[in-house]
Amino acid sequence: MEIIKKTGIVLYANLYTKVAFVLYPDDTRYKARVRVRSVLCGKTCKRCPHGPYIYIQWREKGKLKEKYFRAVSKEEKQGGSFEKII
Ligand SMILES: [Zn+2]
Repeated sequence: MEIIKKTGIVLYANLYTKVAFVLYPDDTRYKARVRVRSVLCGKTCKRCPHGPYIYIQWREKGKLKEKYFRAVSKEEKQGGSFEKII
């Protein structure tokens, strides 16, 4: 389980089982899922696509929420574990 603290929220994620959850300071907890995707930033960029990046996504009162978790590391990309994340 990897843990990343954001302002007002803590994200927990197992990137291989894709089990994730979100914890608020008042102990409210939401089950979440791990999403991995690359991002296109603009028409003139020659380095697109960027990433891949890992996001944590969950539903809160019917609304879909998402937070950036971290980038997929070079080792994960090269070592083949990136495929497991997807
Ligand atoms: Zn770009």
